[in-house]
Amino acid sequence: MKPENRPVILLNPGPVTISQRVRASLAREDLCHREPEFAALTLDIKKRIGNVYEGCAADYEAALASGSGTCAVEAMLQSLAPRSGKTLVVANGVYGERMASMLEAQGKPFTLIKGGWPEPVNIAAAEEELKKDGCLTHVAAIHHETTTGRLNDCAALGQLCGKYGKGFFVDAVSSFAGEEIRFADWNVTALAATANKCVHGIPGICFVLARRDLMETGKTQASSLYLDLYKMYKEQKSGFSPFTQATHACVALREALEELEDQGGWKSRRARYLAISRRLRQEFAAMGIERFLPEEAYASYMSSFKLPEGKTYGELHDILKEEGFVIYAGQGGLYHSIFRIANMGDILDSDVDRLIGVFKTVMKG
Ligand SMILES: *Cc1c(COP(=O)(O)O)cnc(C)c1O
Repeated sequence: MKPENRPVILLNPGPVTISQRVRASLAREDLCHREPEFAALTLDIKKRIGNVYEGCAADYEAALASGSGTCAVEAMLQSLAPRSGKTLVVANGVYGERMASMLEAQGKPFTLIKGGWPEPVNIAAAEEELKKDGCLTHVAAIHHETTTGRLNDCAALGQLCGKYGKGFFVDAVSSFAGEEIRFADWNVTALAATANKCVHGIPGICFVLARRDLMETGKTQASSLYLDLYKMYKEQKSGFSPFTQATHACVALREALEELEDQGGWKSRRARYLAISRRLRQEFAAMGIERFLPEEAYASYMSSFKLPEGKTYGELHDILKEEGFVIYAGQGGLYHSIFRIANMGDILDSDVDRLIGVFKTVMKG
């Protein structure tokens, strides 16, 4: 049974179980997005986002958009992926392939390297394409491919971008604040992220960190008014946004960013995630639940496991739900073979103990 004094623990890769502190921040009076208090809040959030990674704020600036992580990725590609150039999408999962689908929907030229989902991103194939196809101007990739839990080698891809003089679009929706990101070394042009994954805010607000010089001098490539990053960037200089923002989600985001700072920033958060995920993988291995990827492939907080023999995802899910945990299914063709555990959010050691206990019972029964 789920204990009375704990919320349901979300072990899906976002949204996360938020802390009491972030939850409490929501119980306040309402905000109008056209009032100076809200502009001040937006400016404060932008500043804090820029300061999550050292050296980022000097050259990059955040533009906030109301929507889930996909909104940030789409706004980035809408506004920055060129019509008169071409984007090389290097994919190894659902989210990489989704970037290609966005470019297709936008009617923009792209080449997709569609890698196998359990495989690392194909750096050699990417370099081949960059050598061969003179039309390519940008590379797009996923940092943490949540489909499997693999942390992709953005350093290698970014270095290729530097070597061949290409721009680099990064979907860091599921890694921002939970993994190392080296904006300058990786030659990042723009990076998309969200409030409700490693940042531990609530869903509703997302952001793109883009090179400031590009935002100042570039021309939008968007065929959408709502998702135009340049429009957001320009208006948000004063803290105001073109359209109604998810005001409550902004309040929670500011609290979550302050909490992140108080807890020691992304490095401490990553260390905490790693401590839990390594423990889970060890304990699960001892119970005979096999990892889907090699240990070293995983991002800090994600694990994917082969479904135990004789158990469907649905059965496993329902038993855990009863005990106060939400686990996550495999996507697409992996639905019948794996399940996933994302240990982001406000998770206590006692929650982890309990989770392991439930799995032990399941495996014995
Ligand atoms: C979660 C996620 C997204 C965005 O998903 P939403 O459901 O729109 O929040 C995009 N990319 C990656 C890698 C993700 O993990």
